[in-house]
Amino acid sequence: MPELLAPLNVTVIGAGVIGLSTAHELASQGHRVRVISDQEPLHTVSAVSAAIWFPYHSENSPAADILLARTLERFEALSLIPETGVDLRFGMDVERRADADRSWTRHVADAAIVDPALLPDGALSATSGTVPVITMPTYLDWLQQQCQHLGVQFEQRTITDLDELGAHSDAVVVATGIRGGELLGDDHSVYPIRGQVIRLANTAGLTDWFSDDDHPQGVCYVIPRRDDIIVGGTDVAHDTNLEVDEQTAIDMLDRAISLVPQLADCEVLEHKVGLRPARETIRLEHVAGYGIPVIAAYGHGGGGVTLSWGTARRVVELLNS
Ligand SMILES: Cc1cc2nc3c(=O)[nH]c(=O)nc-3n(C[C@H](O)[C@H](O)[C@H](O)COP(=O)(O)OP(=O)(O)OC[C@H]3O[C@@H](n4cnc5c(N)ncnc54)[C@H](O)[C@@H]3O)c2cc1C
Repeated sequence: MPELLAPLNVTVIGAGVIGLSTAHELASQGHRVRVISDQEPLHTVSAVSAAIWFPYHSENSPAADILLARTLERFEALSLIPETGVDLRFGMDVERRADADRSWTRHVADAAIVDPALLPDGALSATSGTVPVITMPTYLDWLQQQCQHLGVQFEQRTITDLDELGAHSDAVVVATGIRGGELLGDDHSVYPIRGQVIRLANTAGLTDWFSDDDHPQGVCYVIPRRDDIIVGGTDVAHDTNLEVDEQTAIDMLDRAISLVPQLADCEVLEHKVGLRPARETIRLEHVAGYGIPVIAAYGHGGGGVTLSWGTARRVVELLNS
């Protein structure tokens, strides 16, 4: 990272995975950071995340590749520290289309083609590899604590106008997820992709992840974490319903059990819904029109965790540029 010239007072708006990672990187560079958010980390979309390092409904570009690679490298290092909640897990991504996107495998050291004998019915092929799986409640708590150790201050309130921050801030980072465009007022291109998941107790002792995005009955993924398993899912664009749909949950679980039969004996702990902050491209840039530097960092779709540390590093680079 470039060396810091002078410490700044930086306000980060947002305490999801993007805001916390960014606050951590800025504070590590010596900046005085405060995070303002109206949802605590465990109540954000980030806390709903599955959360596997895997690009999904997010920007696919050379610029995003850098964010992916940097984040993977960081999570691999964090997986050596048990209290982070980060583990490296093997698993497979089922392919049902000839043009399946395998770009993720470029980053993964042990990526391989799966033995056709192991494919579910109707699948054309599958790729496998070892990637980070993050137990989000543990991880978000750990990350917030790391921020606090670095001196980051936390405030809970809603920001409606960036001008109210000017007197106390030399720079502002807008890491507000789905509400990024609304707060800045110059961007109408963020839209929700609704995701519903089920959290099961991991009494089956599963470790391998499984994903089957193009399953004929709908997206299916099974992400075993430390002591629970996230079963998904749905990906409905422009749907803002935050209520759990019971029939959707029944269908999702049936689908997952048909592919991973060990799930049948696992107790349902919880149902969750979140709105992925989708955008054609991640907005990661200086925003003009303010008296102080304002940097936008939102629009990560279904890959916010996967792109988090790369995004945070890019924000530091933008601030120093
Ligand atoms: C079901 C589901 C499964 C997913 N699985 C994965 C996965 O496996 N891997 C992966 O990488 N990603 C996954 N995602 C996507 C990931 O969760 C998101 O991309 C990520 O959480 C976005 O993080 P964020 O910090 O930008 O936003 P959020 O987590 O939504 O945080 C936004 C923050 O901004 C604050 N805020 C917003 N506006 C204001 C305001 N005006 N004033 C004050 N505070 C404000 C909020 O209070 C909140 O603290 C999944 C998402 C869903 C829904």
